[in-house]
Amino acid sequence: MHSPAPTRYDTPSIYRRCGRSGIQLPLISLGLWHNFGGVDTFENGRAIVRRAFDLGITHFDLANNYGPPPGSAEENFGRILAADLSAHRDELIVSTKAGYHMWAGPYGEWGSRKYLLSSLDQSLKRLKLDYVDIFYHHRPDPNTPLEESMGALAHTVRSGKALYVGLSNYKPEETARASKILRDLGTPALIHQPVYNMFNRWIEPALLDTLETEGMGCIPFSPLAQGLLTNRYLTGIPEDSRAAKAHGFLKTEQVSPAALAKIQKLNTLAQARGQSLAQMALAWTVRDKRVTTALIGASKVSQLEDNFAALKTLDFTSDELAKIDSILA
Ligand code: NDP
Repeated sequence: MHSPAPTRYDTPSIYRRCGRSGIQLPLISLGLWHNFGGVDTFENGRAIVRRAFDLGITHFDLANNYGPPPGSAEENFGRILAADLSAHRDELIVSTKAGYHMWAGPYGEWGSRKYLLSSLDQSLKRLKLDYVDIFYHHRPDPNTPLEESMGALAHTVRSGKALYVGLSNYKPEETARASKILRDLGTPALIHQPVYNMFNRWIEPALLDTLETEGMGCIPFSPLAQGLLTNRYLTGIPEDSRAAKAHGFLKTEQVSPAALAKIQKLNTLAQARGQSLAQMALAWTVRDKRVTTALIGASKVSQLEDNFAALKTLDFTSDELAKIDSILA
């Protein structure tokens, strides 16, 4: 059993309230999409999770399909929880999701009640947990009535298998409709998980406005654009990087000369602020208070530590924000 750092809650300012809910989340949360699967080194993932908890990072995000192979990130996180953190379950917010392809046949993806409820049961077995804190619908399903998908989410709360529910990748109008259905069912949506970073600002302003109206929090995923908004690719594509891995979702084409030109300029600005580029990108992601937490990934403990140190310098001058806008334009 891991003995977590007694200092982990010494800085209450690292937590932000999630919408109009009772839950606070750390400004930086850890996702296990990459680097925690069966293809990865278990002890490295374990060290990252332990270090995160020592820093006061209480929120860990998973999905049924994270790996590869699909399901293996939940299995590995379940092992880490059992070995190191089982005495601290009540200090953790663990989330999982269903929506993308998970098993063969017509009930293994999208948004039917059949799929969502079976998938959560499978996730709980892999995680070796009785409940998750947040269960998400991972993507909207154009062919299933929203009432059915939201009814299934509400059922997970009523059956005690999830404490809260969330939406991911839903557009503003879909979010408002889903939120109304969930509220009417007595299980309001806690949070929305969209992609958001300096290179992809689609949530501005409509989704953020909708979330504010609905009282939902916002947890942007890939705030570092999968590593592009860091010093990782400044001088080429390192062998151990996501872009170099066959199963990585960042493709080498995305490390383009046009992107690199912007990244270099952003890096210079970050240095002038006394921050790493990753730190500046994270501070930028949470600059709007309606954003609850930035959901990062990490392949090394040192990356997690670098990212966490972003919280020391969160403020931007209007001049800096204008410079960032002009670099990104
Ligand atoms: P990021 O944008 O934070 O990218 C993480 C990657 O950036 C790391 O794997 C690492 O790359 C690199 N990196 C991180 N910190 C540093 C640093 N300080 N210095 C240099 N490089 C760094 O997020 P992810 O794309 O990993 O997504 C985060 C989480 O969001 C996922 O784990 C998942 O939980 C969630 N997600 C949700 C989706 C959804 O549809 N709801 C979709 C995608 C993600 P490297 O591995 O090369 O070292």
